[in-house]
Amino acid sequence: MNRVKKLTNFLEKRYGYPETGRTPHFQLLISTVLSQRTRDENTAKASKQLFSVARTPQAISKLPLKKIEKLIKPSGTYRQKALHIKKISKIILKDYKGRVPKTREELMKLPGVGYKTADVTLSYGFGVKTIAVDVHVGRIPKRIGIVDKKANVEEVRKILESLIKGRKRFLVNMGLVRFGQEICKPINPKCPECPLNIICNYYKKRGCVYEKR
Ligand code: SF4
Repeated sequence: MNRVKKLTNFLEKRYGYPETGRTPHFQLLISTVLSQRTRDENTAKASKQLFSVARTPQAISKLPLKKIEKLIKPSGTYRQKALHIKKISKIILKDYKGRVPKTREELMKLPGVGYKTADVTLSYGFGVKTIAVDVHVGRIPKRIGIVDKKANVEEVRKILESLIKGRKRFLVNMGLVRFGQEICKPINPKCPECPLNIICNYYKKRGCVYEKR
């Protein structure tokens, strides 16, 4: 069995498939903007505070900027995020009749929306079979050795999508985020106890001895 298959089998068995299409598209997009460069708990707090006051582009576009800043303060870089969120709301109202656009190109024209935010919205919101590359997805496949170390975010997505087809792509983002938080941490990954160490270049190069399994 090749390494990619072993990885997807592992992710499926351990973490399963994420739910898609459950969160309203607009809220998913705004939560993902809020999640940039902060921890999950901060994102959750900021999203809850904002959506308890306003959860549609109509409602958010009417809020004063200072009010949005106050509501999303837990998410960090809140002034810039508030500006982006207000602008996104206005653009969605004006150019898309209040609906979140469904293509990567359109999403990435929105302020503060890069590859990760666009792909999270597409995959978790619209059920598009794409792979959102966040810090964990950008790190782990490089360590294992299925993606070139020098690949940038967009190249990582393209390489992974050339290797992983169809529905299995939904396993990658959620699975690697959780795996990256539990085992393959950015610093001090738990290699000796990692179920994937047998297929991992990083482990092999560090001279660790494979455990028999
Ligand atoms: S062996 Fe180490 S580096 Fe490789 S996937 Fe597991 S935790 Fe990450």
